[in-house]
Amino acid sequence: MSVIGAATVAEEPPFRGGVFMDADIITPDDPSTLETLNFELLITDDVFDDRYREAVPAEFFRFTATYRNGSNVLFDVNTGFYDKTIATGVAYSYAFVLGQQPAILKRNVKRIVVHEEGDGWSANALGLIIIQHGEYDYYKRRRSLEELMFHETVHTSLDRQVEFDAKWKLAQKNDDRFITDYAMSAPWAEDVAESFLAYFAVTMRSDRLSRRTIRRIEGAIPNRLEYFSQKFPKQRLGL
Ligand SMILES: [Zn+2]
Repeated sequence: MSVIGAATVAEEPPFRGGVFMDADIITPDDPSTLETLNFELLITDDVFDDRYREAVPAEFFRFTATYRNGSNVLFDVNTGFYDKTIATGVAYSYAFVLGQQPAILKRNVKRIVVHEEGDGWSANALGLIIIQHGEYDYYKRRRSLEELMFHETVHTSLDRQVEFDAKWKLAQKNDDRFITDYAMSAPWAEDVAESFLAYFAVTMRSDRLSRRTIRRIEGAIPNRLEYFSQKFPKQRLGL
Protein backbone atom coordinates (compact mmCIF):
# COMPACT_ATOMS: atom_id res chain seq x y z
CA MET A 1 0.00 0.00 0.00
CA SER A 2 1.17 3.53 -0.66
CA VAL A 3 0.27 6.22 1.78
CA ILE A 4 -0.40 9.56 0.15
CA GLY A 5 -1.21 12.15 2.74
CA ALA A 6 -3.92 10.65 4.87
CA ALA A 7 -5.33 8.50 2.08
CA THR A 8 -4.26 4.93 1.48
CA VAL A 9 -4.07 3.73 -2.10
CA ALA A 10 -3.76 0.00 -2.46
CA GLU A 11 -3.00 -1.82 -5.66
CA GLU A 12 -4.99 -5.03 -5.63
CA PRO A 13 -3.15 -8.32 -5.18
CA PRO A 14 -3.24 -10.42 -8.37
CA PHE A 15 -4.62 -13.53 -6.60
CA ARG A 16 -7.24 -14.29 -3.98
CA GLY A 17 -5.13 -16.86 -2.16
CA GLY A 18 -2.05 -18.99 -2.76
CA VAL A 19 -4.10 -22.10 -3.44
CA PHE A 20 -5.82 -20.27 -6.31
CA MET A 21 -2.58 -19.17 -8.00
CA ASP A 22 -2.17 -22.36 -9.99
CA ALA A 23 -3.20 -25.95 -9.18
CA ASP A 24 -0.19 -27.49 -10.92
CA ILE A 25 2.59 -26.12 -8.73
CA ILE A 26 2.55 -29.54 -7.07
CA THR A 27 0.23 -32.18 -8.54
CA PRO A 28 -0.95 -35.60 -7.24
CA ASP A 29 1.45 -37.22 -9.75
CA ASP A 30 4.56 -35.54 -8.35
CA PRO A 31 6.89 -37.80 -6.34
CA SER A 32 6.75 -38.09 -2.57
CA THR A 33 9.53 -39.07 -0.17
CA LEU A 34 7.08 -41.04 2.00
CA GLU A 35 8.46 -44.52 2.63
CA THR A 36 6.38 -46.21 5.31
CA LEU A 37 3.32 -45.53 7.44
CA ASN A 38 2.75 -47.62 10.56
CA PHE A 39 -0.03 -47.68 13.11
CA GLU A 40 1.36 -47.27 16.63
CA LEU A 41 -1.39 -46.98 19.22
CA LEU A 42 -4.48 -45.16 20.39
CA ILE A 43 -3.82 -41.95 22.28
CA THR A 44 -5.92 -39.34 24.05
CA ASP A 45 -4.94 -35.69 23.88
CA ASP A 46 -6.29 -32.14 24.04
CA VAL A 47 -5.72 -30.59 20.64
CA PHE A 48 -7.17 -27.45 19.07
CA ASP A 49 -10.19 -28.27 16.92
CA ASP A 50 -11.54 -25.48 14.71
CA ARG A 51 -15.08 -26.84 15.06
CA TYR A 52 -15.05 -25.84 18.73
CA ARG A 53 -12.50 -23.02 18.42
CA GLU A 54 -10.58 -24.49 21.33
CA ALA A 55 -8.60 -27.52 22.43
CA VAL A 56 -10.88 -30.41 23.36
CA PRO A 57 -9.97 -33.88 24.62
CA ALA A 58 -10.18 -36.48 21.87
CA GLU A 59 -8.96 -39.94 20.97
CA PHE A 60 -6.63 -40.49 18.02
CA PHE A 61 -5.20 -43.33 15.95
CA ARG A 62 -1.49 -42.56 15.98
CA PHE A 63 0.64 -43.41 12.96
CA THR A 64 4.31 -42.84 12.29
CA ALA A 65 5.30 -41.85 8.77
CA THR A 66 8.91 -42.33 7.76
CA TYR A 67 10.46 -40.30 4.96
CA ARG A 68 13.38 -40.98 2.66
CA ASN A 69 15.81 -38.83 4.64
CA GLY A 70 15.02 -40.92 7.75
CA SER A 71 12.80 -38.36 9.46
CA ASN A 72 9.60 -39.41 11.21
CA VAL A 73 6.34 -37.50 11.47
CA LEU A 74 3.46 -38.45 13.76
CA PHE A 75 -0.02 -38.51 12.22
CA ASP A 76 -2.79 -38.43 14.80
CA VAL A 77 -6.13 -39.16 13.16
CA ASN A 78 -9.26 -38.45 15.21
CA THR A 79 -11.23 -41.63 16.02
CA GLY A 80 -14.26 -39.71 14.73
CA PHE A 81 -13.22 -41.41 11.46
CA TYR A 82 -14.73 -44.57 13.09
CA ASP A 83 -12.32 -47.31 12.18
CA LYS A 84 -8.64 -47.86 11.75
CA THR A 85 -8.88 -48.80 8.09
CA ILE A 86 -10.46 -45.47 7.16
CA ALA A 87 -8.04 -43.64 9.45
CA THR A 88 -5.11 -45.39 7.76
CA GLY A 89 -6.27 -44.19 4.34
CA VAL A 90 -6.67 -40.65 5.63
CA ALA A 91 -3.24 -40.67 7.28
CA TYR A 92 -1.71 -42.04 4.08
CA SER A 93 -3.26 -39.30 1.90
CA TYR A 94 -1.81 -36.53 4.01
CA ALA A 95 1.50 -38.29 4.67
CA PHE A 96 2.00 -38.66 0.92
CA VAL A 97 1.25 -34.98 0.27
CA LEU A 98 3.64 -33.96 3.03
CA GLY A 99 6.32 -36.05 1.31
CA GLN A 100 5.79 -34.03 -1.87
CA GLN A 101 6.92 -30.82 -0.20
CA PRO A 102 10.46 -29.43 -0.52
CA ALA A 103 12.86 -30.70 2.16
CA ILE A 104 13.33 -27.24 3.67
CA LEU A 105 9.58 -27.13 4.36
CA LYS A 106 9.31 -30.66 5.74
CA ARG A 107 12.24 -30.38 8.09
CA ASN A 108 10.44 -28.89 11.07
CA VAL A 109 7.15 -30.78 10.77
CA LYS A 110 6.81 -33.11 13.75
CA ARG A 111 3.15 -33.90 14.11
CA ILE A 112 0.02 -33.65 12.00
CA VAL A 113 -3.40 -33.92 13.63
CA VAL A 114 -6.44 -34.69 11.47
CA HIS A 115 -9.98 -33.99 12.65
CA GLU A 116 -12.75 -35.69 10.67
CA GLU A 117 -14.72 -32.53 9.92
CA GLY A 118 -14.48 -28.76 10.04
CA ASP A 119 -12.73 -26.15 7.91
CA GLY A 120 -9.57 -24.13 8.23
CA TRP A 121 -6.14 -25.68 8.65
CA SER A 122 -3.53 -24.23 10.97
CA ALA A 123 0.13 -24.67 11.75
CA ASN A 124 2.68 -23.39 14.20
CA ALA A 125 6.43 -22.97 14.40
CA LEU A 126 6.69 -25.81 16.91
CA GLY A 127 6.07 -28.25 14.06
CA LEU A 128 2.36 -28.98 14.56
CA ILE A 129 -0.13 -28.85 11.67
CA ILE A 130 -3.85 -29.26 12.37
CA ILE A 131 -5.99 -30.40 9.47
CA GLN A 132 -9.77 -30.23 9.39
CA HIS A 133 -10.75 -32.94 6.93
CA GLY A 134 -14.02 -31.21 6.00
CA GLU A 135 -12.03 -29.26 3.38
CA TYR A 136 -10.56 -32.38 1.78
CA ASP A 137 -13.06 -32.93 -1.06
CA TYR A 138 -13.10 -29.26 -1.99
CA TYR A 139 -9.33 -28.95 -2.28
CA LYS A 140 -8.94 -32.40 -3.83
CA ARG A 141 -11.40 -31.43 -6.55
CA ARG A 142 -9.53 -28.20 -7.17
CA ARG A 143 -6.26 -30.19 -7.17
CA SER A 144 -4.97 -27.74 -4.57
CA LEU A 145 -4.39 -30.02 -1.59
CA GLU A 146 -0.64 -30.00 -2.28
CA GLU A 147 -0.48 -26.20 -2.40
CA LEU A 148 -2.46 -25.99 0.84
CA MET A 149 0.01 -28.33 2.56
CA PHE A 150 2.86 -26.25 1.14
CA HIS A 151 1.40 -23.14 2.75
CA GLU A 152 1.11 -24.81 6.18
CA THR A 153 4.64 -26.21 6.07
CA VAL A 154 6.01 -22.71 5.45
CA HIS A 155 4.45 -21.79 8.80
CA THR A 156 6.18 -24.69 10.55
CA SER A 157 9.58 -24.34 8.92
CA LEU A 158 10.25 -20.86 7.50
CA ASP A 159 8.11 -18.22 9.22
CA ARG A 160 10.47 -17.68 12.12
CA GLN A 161 13.53 -17.32 9.89
CA VAL A 162 11.90 -14.76 7.65
CA GLU A 163 9.26 -12.68 9.36
CA PHE A 164 11.60 -10.87 11.74
CA ASP A 165 14.34 -10.35 9.15
CA ALA A 166 14.89 -6.64 8.40
CA LYS A 167 15.66 -7.52 4.76
CA TRP A 168 12.29 -9.23 4.42
CA LYS A 169 10.51 -6.23 5.88
CA LEU A 170 12.36 -3.98 3.46
CA ALA A 171 11.35 -6.21 0.53
CA GLN A 172 7.71 -6.07 1.67
CA LYS A 173 7.90 -2.30 1.84
CA ASN A 174 9.61 -1.92 -1.53
CA ASP A 175 7.15 -4.19 -3.31
CA ASP A 176 4.36 -1.99 -2.05
CA ARG A 177 1.94 -4.76 -2.96
CA PHE A 178 0.84 -8.26 -1.89
CA ILE A 179 0.63 -11.48 -3.88
CA THR A 180 -2.79 -12.45 -2.51
CA ASP A 181 -5.74 -10.97 -0.68
CA TYR A 182 -5.02 -13.44 2.08
CA ALA A 183 -1.44 -12.16 2.53
CA MET A 184 -2.71 -8.59 2.56
CA SER A 185 -5.34 -9.44 5.17
CA ALA A 186 -2.67 -10.58 7.67
CA PRO A 187 0.81 -9.52 6.46
CA TRP A 188 2.47 -10.38 9.79
CA ALA A 189 1.19 -13.98 9.67
CA GLU A 190 0.38 -15.02 6.10
CA ASP A 191 2.64 -13.08 3.75
CA VAL A 192 5.65 -15.39 4.05
CA ALA A 193 3.58 -18.52 3.35
CA GLU A 194 1.70 -16.96 0.44
CA SER A 195 4.75 -15.31 -1.15
CA PHE A 196 7.01 -18.34 -0.76
CA LEU A 197 4.56 -20.48 -2.73
CA ALA A 198 4.70 -17.88 -5.51
CA TYR A 199 8.51 -17.91 -5.37
CA PHE A 200 8.59 -21.72 -5.54
CA ALA A 201 6.15 -21.63 -8.48
CA VAL A 202 8.17 -19.24 -10.66
CA THR A 203 11.51 -20.78 -9.67
CA MET A 204 10.75 -24.51 -9.91
CA ARG A 205 7.54 -24.78 -11.95
CA SER A 206 7.73 -22.05 -14.55
CA ASP A 207 7.17 -24.73 -17.24
CA ARG A 208 3.74 -25.43 -15.74
CA LEU A 209 2.58 -21.84 -15.37
CA SER A 210 1.01 -19.62 -17.99
CA ARG A 211 3.04 -16.59 -19.04
CA ARG A 212 0.31 -14.45 -17.54
CA THR A 213 0.60 -16.10 -14.12
CA ILE A 214 4.39 -15.64 -14.15
CA ARG A 215 3.99 -11.99 -15.15
CA ARG A 216 1.47 -11.39 -12.41
CA ILE A 217 3.73 -12.93 -9.75
CA GLU A 218 6.88 -11.18 -10.92
CA GLY A 219 5.06 -7.89 -11.30
CA ALA A 220 3.55 -7.96 -7.82
CA ILE A 221 6.41 -9.00 -5.53
CA PRO A 222 9.82 -8.63 -7.30
CA ASN A 223 11.67 -7.65 -4.13
CA ARG A 224 10.32 -10.58 -2.14
CA LEU A 225 11.26 -12.95 -4.97
CA GLU A 226 14.78 -11.52 -4.96
CA TYR A 227 14.95 -11.85 -1.18
CA PHE A 228 13.93 -15.54 -1.33
CA SER A 229 16.35 -16.27 -4.16
CA GLN A 230 19.22 -15.01 -1.99
CA LYS A 231 18.12 -16.83 1.13
CA PHE A 232 16.69 -20.02 -0.36
CA PRO A 233 18.29 -20.45 -3.80
CA LYS A 234 16.87 -22.88 -6.34
CA GLN A 235 19.27 -25.71 -5.41
CA ARG A 236 17.75 -25.75 -1.90
CA LEU A 237 14.18 -26.26 -3.10
CA GLY A 238 14.34 -29.97 -3.89
CA LEU A 239 12.73 -32.92 -2.13
ZN1 LIG B 1 -1.46 -19.59 6.86
